[in-house]
Amino acid sequence: MSETPAKPPARAAKSKELPEHLKAYRHVWVFIELEHGRVHSVSWELLGEARKLADTLKVDVAGVVLGPAGEGTDQAVAEAFHYGADQVYLVEDPLLTNYRTDPFTKALTDLVNTHKPEILMLGASTLGRDLAGALATTLATGLTADCTELAIDGTSRALAATRPTFGGSLLCTIMTLAARPQMATVRPRVMSMPEPDRSRAGPVIRERLDMVEEDIVTKVLDFIPDADTNQAQLAFADIVVAGGLGLQRPENVQLVKDLAEVLGAEYGCSRPLIQKGWMTADRQIGQTGKTIRPRLYIAAGISGAIQHRVGSEGADRILAINTDPNAPIFDFAHHGIVGDALEILPALTEAFRARLA
Ligand code: FAD
Repeated sequence: MSETPAKPPARAAKSKELPEHLKAYRHVWVFIELEHGRVHSVSWELLGEARKLADTLKVDVAGVVLGPAGEGTDQAVAEAFHYGADQVYLVEDPLLTNYRTDPFTKALTDLVNTHKPEILMLGASTLGRDLAGALATTLATGLTADCTELAIDGTSRALAATRPTFGGSLLCTIMTLAARPQMATVRPRVMSMPEPDRSRAGPVIRERLDMVEEDIVTKVLDFIPDADTNQAQLAFADIVVAGGLGLQRPENVQLVKDLAEVLGAEYGCSRPLIQKGWMTADRQIGQTGKTIRPRLYIAAGISGAIQHRVGSEGADRILAINTDPNAPIFDFAHHGIVGDALEILPALTEAFRARLA
C-alpha cells in the first residue's frame, strides 16, 4: 500500500500531470472474484462504484473473470454485464481452479500490461487482499487498501481513494500520481449493491494463461470447505443486534442473543468483547472486524468509538441504547434510548416476542 505522506515528495508536489507513457492507460476494471463456481458479492458492489467513476472519466467499465472453463465462468461473465460492465476480460484455464497467488497474479499482470486499465479494483476479501498485494508488486504501482470512499480528483483525473488511518482516528485520501493502474481494495458491504439490469450484455475478450503447472510453487492437495455453519453472516444480515462493554458481564451477552433470535437477526459486538472472549472474532463489528449494512442496527452498551462507527454507520437505521446521553454513538444513531441496556434489551425481546407471535 502506498499512502500519501503528510508532506508530499517533491516530485508529486511539482506536478499533477501524468507522465506521457502512462496516458495510454484507460478504463476502470473490477476483478470479479469467482471461487468454486460462486462470485463474491463484493464484486458486484465494486462494479456499481466503477460505473460512477467511469462515467466521471467518460471511459468504460470492464470486469475480469478468471477460472476453469465450465465452473461458473459463463454465469460470472453474464452477471458482470448485468451489474454494469461494458466488456469482460476472460481467462479460462484449469490452473485457475483453486486460488493460488502465482497463476492469478500472472493472469492479471498480463491482462493489465496488454490492455492497460487506469483503475483496477478488487474486493478486500481474503483472496482479494492476497491478490491485490502481489499484483501491485509485480506491476510496480500504488495500492490503497480497505477504501471507504472512491472519487475522481477534478484536476488530475486521478483516483482519490479514502481510507481510515492512524487506528481509524483520521481519514486520508491517497492518489497514485506517477504509476498506472491505480489500485484499490474495498471491503464487502462498504459500497451499496447496484440494481442488476438483466438485459445488458457485451463483448468478451478472451486471453490465455501463459503458464504451466511446473511454473507454480504452491500445490493444492485437497479442498476442504469450511464446516462451521455457525460462522456469523454479519456483513449480509438485514438486522443486527450488538452489545458492548455496557453489558458488563459475560452472561449478559445472552440478552443480545435473545433479542437477535426474536428478530431473526445476526448478533455481534464491539472489539473489547472479543478481547475478553465473550464472543468469537467473526462477530466483531468495526474497522478491524466486519462492515455491516443492515436495514436495522441495534447497538446496546456501545460507546460508538470511531473504529466501531466506520463499520456500522452504513446501516439504514441505527438504534442506540446507552446510559450516557453524551455517548458518541448518539452522534450517528437515528434513534436513541438513554437507559440501562440490561433492562431495555429484555423488555424489547418480550415486546417483539408478543408482537411477532
Ligand atoms: P466502551 O467504550 O467502554 O463503551 C461502553 C459504553 O456502554 C459506554 O458508552 C457506556 O456509557 C455504556 N454503558 C455502560 N453501562 C451501560 C448499561 N448498563 N446500559 C447501556 N449502556 C451502558 N472497536 C470496535 O468496536 N470495532 C473495531 O473494529 C475496533 N477496531 C479497533 C482498531 C484499533 C487499531 C484500535 C486502537 C481500536 C479498535 N477498536 C475497535 C476499539 C475502539 O477504539 C473502542 O475501544 C471500542 O469500540 C469500545 O467498545 P465499547 O463501546 O463496547 O466500550
